[in-house]
Amino acid sequence: MNEPPIADKFAAFEELIPPLDDLNTPYREALSRGELILQQCQSCTSYQYPFESFCYECGSNLLEHKVSRGQGFIYSFVKVHQPYHSAFKPFIPYTVATIQLDDGPRLLSAMLDLTTEVKIGDRVKPRIEKITASESMLMYELERS
Ligand SMILES: [Zn+2]
Repeated sequence: MNEPPIADKFAAFEELIPPLDDLNTPYREALSRGELILQQCQSCTSYQYPFESFCYECGSNLLEHKVSRGQGFIYSFVKVHQPYHSAFKPFIPYTVATIQLDDGPRLLSAMLDLTTEVKIGDRVKPRIEKITASESMLMYELERS
């Protein structure tokens, strides 16, 4: 079985990968399988991201990992014209958006390779790109693209 190739334009993100720890390892392993997972509280059922050792809503530590379809809409965004890191240079200008997930949490995500302007409320879906053999990166794209 052949793995899909890693696009050169994404390989440069490797140096931005944070170290693995107990909280981010399950998330990163899921992303490398092509899945987005969130934490779900077993006491109050709310979903959360980023990962923590307790529920943001009720404080319980009974948290499980659940696969999320990852869809949502643009809650807010900025268009970035400065290459704050060389990995982003091929994508200038690119969008960084706060995504309101249908599952509840909001997350911050890059939207690279957009071919149209975005606006608040636009429906979006996750796009998971391999950046190394074992690491993938979550970004977002418009549902209609
Ligand atoms: Zn809870």
